[in-house]
Amino acid sequence: MKTHIQEEMRKIPSMDKILSLPWITQFEESLGRDTVKGSISVLLNAEKESVIKDLDKHVNLEEIYERIREFLKRKGTPTLKQVVNATGVVVHTNLGRSLLADEAIDNVAKIAANYSTLEYSPENGSRGHRNNHVEWLICQLTGAEAALVVNNNAAAVILALSALSKGKEAIVSRGELVEIGGSFRIPDIMALSGTEMVEVGTTNRTHLKDYANAITEETKLLLKIHPSNYKITGFSSSVPREELATLAHNNNVIFMEDLGSGMLVDLSSVCLSDDPTVSESLMSGVDLVTFSGDKLLGGPQIGVLVGKKEIIDLLRTYPLLRALRVDKMTLCAFETTLRLYLKGDVNKIPTISMVMETAEELKSRANLLLRKMKKEIKKININFNFQLDIVETRDTVGGGSFPQSVLKGYGVSLYAPSLGSSGNIAQSLRMMDTPIIAGASEDKVVFHVRTLRKKDEIFIIDSLLKLLKGRNEFADGRDYKE
Ligand SMILES: *Cc1c(COP(=O)(O)O)cnc(C)c1O
Repeated sequence: MKTHIQEEMRKIPSMDKILSLPWITQFEESLGRDTVKGSISVLLNAEKESVIKDLDKHVNLEEIYERIREFLKRKGTPTLKQVVNATGVVVHTNLGRSLLADEAIDNVAKIAANYSTLEYSPENGSRGHRNNHVEWLICQLTGAEAALVVNNNAAAVILALSALSKGKEAIVSRGELVEIGGSFRIPDIMALSGTEMVEVGTTNRTHLKDYANAITEETKLLLKIHPSNYKITGFSSSVPREELATLAHNNNVIFMEDLGSGMLVDLSSVCLSDDPTVSESLMSGVDLVTFSGDKLLGGPQIGVLVGKKEIIDLLRTYPLLRALRVDKMTLCAFETTLRLYLKGDVNKIPTISMVMETAEELKSRANLLLRKMKKEIKKININFNFQLDIVETRDTVGGGSFPQSVLKGYGVSLYAPSLGSSGNIAQSLRMMDTPIIAGASEDKVVFHVRTLRKKDEIFIIDSLLKLLKGRNEFADGRDYKE
């Protein structure tokens, strides 16, 4: 007599049978036969295991096919893909920080597709240096004597500490011992570079004499760190850059600042005035400043070190630099972005133009989006209640810059309890082929318009229609059943 287990096992289809199904072909084309076979084998083994473990299990052929199809579909879809940022957070680290200007994108495509002058001087027919493409531009825009680029700001800080203070001491205020985005913690970075960290002051107040008392023969650096997405308010004080600079220079110590987001232009017109620009930091006497290229600067992921020529020259020859060198596409994007600053075309840099956009402009964009949405929705039949409205939003710069500053913005809110909670709706929007990442306010989903690109409206409206029609996005009409 057959046992239940044997009976159920027999219902599980064979590999050959599955491979002969017509809908498998498309996955063999996108994933290759080996990957398809491997995936099916994993799923079939799991099915067999559950038959053995669960005595009530009934094998369902349709379900198995569905699971395989879903699995292969997911594997066949690239995971690094475009999304719609409707959060109003301009420099959104999880969504790729800054977007490149059109000119930068065009130039990157050219450099990526062709041989280039990356490390070549056509004049002499000899070797050039990749840093030369951007060094003079950075100096021109910041007033620095010299500049060097590496992969990101974290790398810039590690390079500087390793080259300047390994085996020696660096003084940091306890108010600035921050963690930035999980893995970048100042004490850990210090340890990694072999620098002895000397903490001074307290979390909320550090005075000049705290620094002065901590300077010894072993001190190489006074380090100032931008607290990033963290702000100490109330009874607090820190020492002005000018005073730290004087103290450092009187003691033959280097004054370094990790500025985080490198602003090249003054954004005080949009109430972002707490932080200095790179040139202001240098002018106040800082010897070496490090910053990111893809935060408020609006370029690609890159780390920049600017400052005194003799310090930069030391870093240029430090062996670690070779491991941190910048890719040609990044360099090209950075050079193009810097040239936009040079020309005064900062409005062509998406991050800058998004930050600068006024509430009025955003309000009219939100109105336009709302009208388009309503026009399209009219064309379909919806028999439940939902509400679309213009709402004021509190947008932010993001990327650890100006954590206190709110940029007044506008958006379109969606209230549709028949589709589930706002959390459910937000999740459905995230699961679209082009995910829509929206904000939320109470029981509404909010599409902030500040961070939308021109074509994003189409994705939002399509997704909205899909949601309202209650259509399952995977139901593409293909008959995949046996
Ligand atoms: C963002 C930030 C960093 C890290 O910069 P990456 O370019 O992301 O490596 C380091 N320090 C500060 C103060 C920052 O704000």
